[in-house]
Amino acid sequence: MNRVILIKYGELTTKKSNRNFFVNTLYNNILKKLKGMNVNISKDMSRMYIEYESDNQDQVLKKIGEIFGIHAYSIAYKTDTNIDSIQKTIQEVLNFNIDNDFNNGKTITFKVETKRSYKEFNLDSMTCNQQFGGFILKNFSNLKVDVHNPNVLVHVEIRKNNSFVYLNEYKGLGGYPVGTLGKGLLMLSGGIDSPVAGYLALKRGIKLDLVYFEAIPHTSLEARNKVIELAKRLSIYGGEMRLIIVPFTKLQEEIYKNVEENYSITIMRRMMYRIMEKLTLRFKSLVVINGESVGQVASQTLTSMKVINQVTNIPIIRPVACFDKLEIIDISKKIETYDISILPYEDCCTIFVPKHPVINPVLMECIKMESKFDYETLIAEIMSNLNIMIINSKMDDNKYQDLL
Ligand code: ATP
Ligand code: MG
Repeated sequence: MNRVILIKYGELTTKKSNRNFFVNTLYNNILKKLKGMNVNISKDMSRMYIEYESDNQDQVLKKIGEIFGIHAYSIAYKTDTNIDSIQKTIQEVLNFNIDNDFNNGKTITFKVETKRSYKEFNLDSMTCNQQFGGFILKNFSNLKVDVHNPNVLVHVEIRKNNSFVYLNEYKGLGGYPVGTLGKGLLMLSGGIDSPVAGYLALKRGIKLDLVYFEAIPHTSLEARNKVIELAKRLSIYGGEMRLIIVPFTKLQEEIYKNVEENYSITIMRRMMYRIMEKLTLRFKSLVVINGESVGQVASQTLTSMKVINQVTNIPIIRPVACFDKLEIIDISKKIETYDISILPYEDCCTIFVPKHPVINPVLMECIKMESKFDYETLIAEIMSNLNIMIINSKMDDNKYQDLL
């Protein structure tokens, strides 16, 4: 039998004028994802078809399940567009799958669902359902129709050049193809929230580069490795990305020397945003994304967020702003970042945590404290000492050790 993986697009169907761009981006993302796997991908405006080597089937299916912009996918059997060929294929598919997946002899319920996009085909969808349903009943004594809750859905798609038969389908990740909505910079710390924020931004089609603020020697290389591991996990969904490592030590030390302790986190985050704004210009990004969640810590009260945000006009997207911690943890487990995030290494926000961080900071106080030291020169110095790594999900550990 001639097998392909049939892909149904996700939300891009709502984007009429951009359809070509969305489909082409998805196509390129799939090509990159399956690179080296000897596949042949063809596409039209509503479907993609992947021919693959049967030895690779599990791996290809797994990878397709990691790509945004796919609504559903299934293993489909290609046949000619005429009733006899379609019925012959239905028979083969059911024989093959029933032998493999079900106990012979037990009654199995089914329903036929025909989609006829080739309107010149001589039977309409309803008549096809009846025709193919009757054919199945005649040839399989252990199959019975149940239109409400069938064990097996027999899908038939009638297209001009070829038709396809497939049984139940897998649910795709949904969202938009990564890259269709422009570029953003994710502030990636070693915690639980920011990788989840990154995943959700990728899901909306935003291509990401990553920014990690590092304060060596107050933070360790293990902390950096942890961020690299998280970045590798994200690149499973987002493709290759840059990890921009920001040398934050001097600026952070100046903050702690010059600023009242309870304001240190507020000022530190204002400095981070100032740097993020410069980075968006340098790396041609439209937005900043981070893992802030309302109320989680002192710097994430609404007053804090307002005062911290006041240093910049770039949009800051906070995908987990209104999620409970438990909801964030659920996603982090699903995307397998949780076990990495809970490793114990300190990051630059946790080492200098004041005993009583201010929860209602006042803007004028921030400005007064910031005037005590020349942060602009320090930021300029930081901007000329960035350390950039290329991250992809396949890089092995030795390779990035060399880069350190
Ligand atoms: P997370 O679990 O993501 O670390 P958090 O609850 O610890 O978040 P904060 O430490 O206040 O919260 O940080 C809020 C957000 O700021 C983080 O989610 C992340 O996006 C960003 N951030 C914090 N520290 C860093 C860092 N060292 N490098 C890059 N981004 C950071
Ligand atoms: Mg953190």
